[in-house]
Amino acid sequence: MAANRKVVVLGAGIGGLAAAYYLSLRDGFEITVIEKEAIPGGVCGSFSHAGFTLDYGPHKLYSVLPGIMDDIREILGNRALEVEKKNRLFLNGHPVDYPLKPGNLLKALGVGESFKIGLGFGLSLLQGLVASREASTYEQYMIRRFGRRGYELIFKPLAEKVWGDPSHLHADVAAIRVPASGGLEVLLKLLKLKQENARTNAGFFLYPEQGFGAFAQAMVEAIEDKGGKVLLGTKAEKIQLEDGNIRGVQVAADGRADTIGCDLLINSIRPSEVGAMIWGRDSEQAVFVRENLRLRDAMLVYLGIDRDRVLEDQWIFFPERSFPFSRLSEPKLISYRLGPVGKTVLCCDFTCEEGCPQWQGAEDDLIRTCIRSLVNAGFITEEEVEYSFVKRIPRVYPVYDCQYRDNLSRLYSFFDEIGNLILTGRSGMFNYNNADHCLDMGKLIAQRLFMGEPLDLIRSRLQERAGNYKIVD
Ligand SMILES: Cc1cc2nc3c(=O)[nH]c(=O)nc-3n(C[C@H](O)[C@H](O)[C@H](O)COP(=O)(O)OP(=O)(O)OC[C@H]3O[C@@H](n4cnc5c(N)ncnc54)[C@H](O)[C@@H]3O)c2cc1C
Repeated sequence: MAANRKVVVLGAGIGGLAAAYYLSLRDGFEITVIEKEAIPGGVCGSFSHAGFTLDYGPHKLYSVLPGIMDDIREILGNRALEVEKKNRLFLNGHPVDYPLKPGNLLKALGVGESFKIGLGFGLSLLQGLVASREASTYEQYMIRRFGRRGYELIFKPLAEKVWGDPSHLHADVAAIRVPASGGLEVLLKLLKLKQENARTNAGFFLYPEQGFGAFAQAMVEAIEDKGGKVLLGTKAEKIQLEDGNIRGVQVAADGRADTIGCDLLINSIRPSEVGAMIWGRDSEQAVFVRENLRLRDAMLVYLGIDRDRVLEDQWIFFPERSFPFSRLSEPKLISYRLGPVGKTVLCCDFTCEEGCPQWQGAEDDLIRTCIRSLVNAGFITEEEVEYSFVKRIPRVYPVYDCQYRDNLSRLYSFFDEIGNLILTGRSGMFNYNNADHCLDMGKLIAQRLFMGEPLDLIRSRLQERAGNYKIVD
């Protein structure tokens, strides 16, 4: 009988766990997952605070990819809650439906502003009829679909908060989240002549009753049930490359070093980090990736509130500059089981460039600006805030700037030279995606490896698929 193929997976975020989970369903693989943190899940993990289970910003499980919702249900079993989704935009002191609805906008913005938006939209429709070229930037893409005024009022300031200057962003960032093929499609939807559907807007989502991190935990249990190992609190430090193939990974756990041998390495940690482990921090490859494929950081400000609930929506987007954050969420509105009766938590999302003032500055200042803007808008009173804290997630938003496609091809070409390495996940592939896309990647890897498909082909299939994922809001 042939020996099992030794597969080492770097990272127990959803990207790494998905590859390990789907492989564990098949015979022929001996799987070891290496995770530096004590709990699995990465960005999709949860933590406890003051009786609450909290996630890193609001997270939903939803997919239009074939078979993925069924797989999620299978993994979660009876731990899955089906939640009706409620989220809106906050404009001019009013919540506004998103996807946008004309009556709703009129109520929030008044006749004058709504007329300007309508006029800008009409113009963009006419310009779209004569436009000969595809939009190349985020800005062009959104103006063609919503008009200049709508873009400047809603989408530009929101994009600035999440991505920085949107005029330097590739149109792919917009296409991933706003799938309308043009202004005409947007118009038909506004007039209700064309419906939003499950592919463009999730009406519901799945959520694990004990917090989002329970999804990763369920995957760990399933992998271990099938004989795989998940080594938590174990940091990969160096990767041994010999004759173009990876032979082993040096790890450290509890102050002890070890080497784990492998026939195949599946990597879900950031390419700059794994590149440094393979070729060294100052290698051409590691320097190129670090300097050309930028990532933005996330900061999450949590406020404990002495009230049972504050919002009507699970999360609300805030384009206006008077609010320093881009999104506000209330975990208890996803599941009441996440915290005690009579208390709630609000979470404010920030995204910033590495080394930005928010990241460097005092956390107390950041917290104060959040509280002030929420008090001014009438969401809470200052006295209701019982505690506050900040969580930081470094380098979590891959920035698709106008050169990113070329730079990403170069990144892939470095790693494709290694005979037995596959990149996967959002972090590992520098792919702006969601957990369901990470599952899809893991499923593809497992199916194709099991079939004995050559690695080159698997990698090119993954790269093509990653380029076509859409995030469904
Ligand atoms: C604010 C926010 C909200 C989101 N909302 C949603 C949502 O609603 N729905 C959804 O589906 N997706 C959502 N996403 C996207 C989702 O979080 C990602 O697609 C997913 O977490 C990516 O998983 P990953 O495994 O690629 O990366 P990560 O989660 O970054 O996992 C990488 C893992 O590698 C580990 N690691 C790193 N270095 C080492 C090392 N040297 N040794 C060992 N281990 C190491 C890390 O600790 C981490 O656990 C959201 C993302 C953000 C930032």
